[in-house]
Amino acid sequence: MQSLWSLERPLVPVQDQDRGFPVRRVYCVGRNYVDHIREMREGDERDDPFFFQKPTDAVELDGARIPYPQSTHDFQFEGELVVAVGAKYRNGTPDTALECVYGYATGIDLTRRDLQKESVARSRPWEPGKSFDQSAPCGRIVPAETIGDIDGGDLTVSVNGDVRQRTRFELMIWSVPEIIAQISKAYTLQPGDLIFTGTPAGVGAIHPNDTVTVEITGLPSLTITIIDQQEES
Ligand code: MN
Repeated sequence: MQSLWSLERPLVPVQDQDRGFPVRRVYCVGRNYVDHIREMREGDERDDPFFFQKPTDAVELDGARIPYPQSTHDFQFEGELVVAVGAKYRNGTPDTALECVYGYATGIDLTRRDLQKESVARSRPWEPGKSFDQSAPCGRIVPAETIGDIDGGDLTVSVNGDVRQRTRFELMIWSVPEIIAQISKAYTLQPGDLIFTGTPAGVGAIHPNDTVTVEITGLPSLTITIIDQQEES
């Protein structure tokens, strides 16, 4: 048995830094692009943003080989911009929210869509569909000061080289500062927190041997490969 005292937080590599970003919590925005809300046929497009969390150890890095997860027949990708938090921030407002941003990364909100839909239908939490092992791939973090204005960027997601999602961040319903401010009214953000900011239209099922690549302007790309489900041990 591994010693409890050798456990450490997941570390996400940071551009031009020897030390990784130690992940504390992983927050995700439930819906943040009108076209994705329409493809999911859910909700009022003007609803307040809402949030869920994934376990910290769900974080996977660029190049990860991720086994097809248990308990699903509809495993899907959602390419997203990820915000890395570098300072304590609570009960904030959009005009100050970027003060707590350390940097940005590419991410994939891996989803067991069948379990998520079942949760929605039965008015249960989204957790089985969203908060499972290896469900939060995150690319190398680039410090905010080297990126400048992330809002002008765009996101492209390809599966086996075919473009499946493409959007511009200006199409977000809630901007990055608005998301941060809203989360900070419910939780105290702390250094090490990651925020997945929602996905546009084009989500879909993936299978063993599929490769998913997320590209965002100014950030290193993120690629994962799905492999066969692990044998029960
Ligand atoms: Mn998502």
